[in-house]
Amino acid sequence: MSGSAMRFTLLTLFPEPIESYFASSIMARAVEKGLVEYRCVNIRDFALDTHRTCDDAPYGGGAGMVLKAEPLAAALDSVGAGEIHTVYPTPAGRPLTTEVIDRFCAQQELVLICGRYEGIDQRIIDLYVDDEVSIGDYVLSSGELAGLVIVDAVYRHLDGVIASESLEEESFQDGLLEYPHYTRPEVFRSRTVPEVLLSGHHERIRNWRMQQRIEKTRRMRPDLYEAWLKRTEGKDKE
Ligand code: SAM
Repeated sequence: MSGSAMRFTLLTLFPEPIESYFASSIMARAVEKGLVEYRCVNIRDFALDTHRTCDDAPYGGGAGMVLKAEPLAAALDSVGAGEIHTVYPTPAGRPLTTEVIDRFCAQQELVLICGRYEGIDQRIIDLYVDDEVSIGDYVLSSGELAGLVIVDAVYRHLDGVIASESLEEESFQDGLLEYPHYTRPEVFRSRTVPEVLLSGHHERIRNWRMQQRIEKTRRMRPDLYEAWLKRTEGKDKE
């Protein structure tokens, strides 16, 4: 992806982990280089009462609290969310996959709503949210980490963030997981590096790595393996 900076806007009740993520490591460099811009908006700043209340009990009863619609809507309006692709990370969303990330990468800007409590008022989803996305079949206590997972999976595809060769050889790129890696020393606790990797024979190394990818995918992710097998068999028949 090329062009101007990609902008991420995160709405949250807890800005600290978000601020610290954007100030660290590869992301900090991407921000410094002007490849990424971000805004971290505290939903509490848009609360209507003096106690800055952002949650209330659910209609119909039941456990927990719900993030109120009014402060969230005011925060979303303040960043122009109506015009920007808006994502709500939630366990009740569609699974986050490479295809979803590719779709997000095509946007110039994303708004991410970090939920809390039992979640957000459904009317915010109806009015503002373009995508509800789950980062896995488990429940986190809040949406900051999930929002940052999405940011991380997207920004590393921007031109200039990570070498493109690294991205090409990664897990999922062609439906398989990655091969195992080794670095110095050659022997570690009596375990040696596979001989083929020391051979300098590029074709043998390529073949070995492909075999490892297939075997690892078969063991770890039978679902991906079956899909890859079907595609490969289909291609062979063409
Ligand atoms: N009551 C919700 C449910 O059962 O689906 C769980 C709410 S969770 C305690 C609070 C917030 O954490 C959610 O609104 C969401 O933003 C975030 N969250 C938790 N687990 C997540 C997941 N697997 N994927 C994406 N976001 C998640």
